[in-house]
Amino acid sequence: MSRLFLRTLRDDPADAEVPSHRLLVRAGYVRRAAPGIYSWLPLGLKVLERVEEIVREEMDAIGSQEVRFPALLPREPYEASNRWTEYGPDLFRLKDRRGADMLLGPTHEEMFALLVKDLYSSYKDLPLSLYQIQAKYRDEARPRAGILRGREFVMKDSYSFDVDDAGLEASYAAHREAYVRIFDRLGFDYVVVQADSGAMGGSASEEFLAVAETGEDTFVRSPGGYAANVEAVTTVVPPALPYDDVPAAHAEQTPDTPTIETLVDHLNEAFPREDRPWSAADTLKNVLVVLQHPDGTREPLAIGLPGDREVDAKRLETQVSPAEVLPFEEADFRAHPALVKGYIGPAVLGEESASGIRYLVDPRVVEGTRWVTGADVEGSHVLDLVAGRDFSADGTIEAAEVRVGDPAPDGSGPLELARGIEMGHIFQLGRKYADALGLQVLDENGKLVTVTMGSYGVGVSRAVAAIVEGAHDELGIVWPREVAPFDVHLVVAGKEPALFEAAEKIVAELEASDIAVLHDDRPKVSPGVKFKDAELLGMPTIVVVGRGLADGVVEVKDRASGARRDVPVDAVVDELRAVCR
Ligand code: ATP
Ligand code: MG
Repeated sequence: MSRLFLRTLRDDPADAEVPSHRLLVRAGYVRRAAPGIYSWLPLGLKVLERVEEIVREEMDAIGSQEVRFPALLPREPYEASNRWTEYGPDLFRLKDRRGADMLLGPTHEEMFALLVKDLYSSYKDLPLSLYQIQAKYRDEARPRAGILRGREFVMKDSYSFDVDDAGLEASYAAHREAYVRIFDRLGFDYVVVQADSGAMGGSASEEFLAVAETGEDTFVRSPGGYAANVEAVTTVVPPALPYDDVPAAHAEQTPDTPTIETLVDHLNEAFPREDRPWSAADTLKNVLVVLQHPDGTREPLAIGLPGDREVDAKRLETQVSPAEVLPFEEADFRAHPALVKGYIGPAVLGEESASGIRYLVDPRVVEGTRWVTGADVEGSHVLDLVAGRDFSADGTIEAAEVRVGDPAPDGSGPLELARGIEMGHIFQLGRKYADALGLQVLDENGKLVTVTMGSYGVGVSRAVAAIVEGAHDELGIVWPREVAPFDVHLVVAGKEPALFEAAEKIVAELEASDIAVLHDDRPKVSPGVKFKDAELLGMPTIVVVGRGLADGVVEVKDRASGARRDVPVDAVVDELRAVCR
């Protein structure tokens, strides 16, 4: 440590919101170069490389072959797949000196498909699986939490190539097993959830989430084993209801009721029900947004949903992707005079209506359901408005929030909500990219068939932070041995030359046994400061060569449990060999 390029910091970085960010910067593992862009310092680089090595071993074990593409890429392949446009502002674009458009790769489906197309032409060449571990670039809207969500980050991305669907399923299954081994080895508490494949477009898709309160992803699980990303949850659609007995819809005066709460209060006062009080779930609220499509066009969209639920921004974004969701502004209201703010009802919504605005409703709005909703007149609502009788929508949309207790779509019980960090994503891409880029091979009958692809990612740099999210205490990081930069942190506590000599000897013997030691040999640093650093840096075993040496012992401490013991100096190397295996 007297030579190591390291400065531990006493204070948390000002922008740190989560423990991993705080600790990795304070312990000198990473250093911010620009927002969302980090440099790896010696200790951090060792951890990153250990994570990479685990990923590499497991990818090699399923027969995937490592390659490495450039990060700086030409526009054309991404133009062919339409992602030059669809990626929107997340894509780092630049021009070379001749004015040609270039980009920094956010993910490499196109490049892999083209490489295989370039070199392979027969079904005999398949199946094939290729991977790389490399920096990716995304101009994230909200770079956050240090390396958890960076604008430059390290990803392992792999791609499988098969002639038919059965082949794709086998490749997918092999990847899934490799991922289970990777995340087991990395020591994560993780769940595998059904995912929405979003902009990539595809079928089967699962995410590996590290369970963490600081995670940005919300997932659901049921007692019966259903688990899904909240974006992928589908609503259990209730059966249609009979409505022969429902009176005709009638508009009523409901002055000063621009919010659901004021409306429900007013209904209970002015139109009390006999069976039960009115609740927000009896109202149909209509939320307006603007979709901005990748080509720049703006399209207003109305979403009808039960008044006791909010629109979930992430679920909505997933549904309308690649369009972006923008707020519906005052100017948009002025452009649509049929809309009366706070009192908007289905009568003025829909492609065929006065506003012409596309109207999508929550799947719970089934035929026969009966609603209180806006009458399109200031201070007035309609009661007994029946779906399918009095109004219809242009379609349904899964944009309402998912709540604790909602039924799992597969009937496996009520849902519970938890948070996680997306560590990996596997999915069956199908033929989308192969079609766009003309990746075909000759099949057994000499007929050209389009190759079917899978795409699989692991957030390698994100894993370093996610491990720390689950492995720290108030003193610092507590590395799992599999990824720790060193096995042993050896502290010389004292000034006497005998201590340094004894330490040198132990270090040499440990290293001869392939045990990596971080030796705190700093001569002028107090034991207290050294102990603090050892705890902050987080090696799994701490050895202290100090006062006890006079009695022939050194102290061995387990960083995770805090348990410490004196071990005879002659026995310490054997002891550590056993611990570090
Ligand atoms: P997220 O929803 O977190 O933005 P994503 O769906 O965009 O992730 P993929 O495109 O599937 O992610 O990328 C594969 C993996 O790369 C992810 O599972 C994640 O672990 C990692 N990853 C994605 N974006 C980032 C980022 N900005 N910083 C660090 N790692 C990332
Ligand atoms: Mg993303």
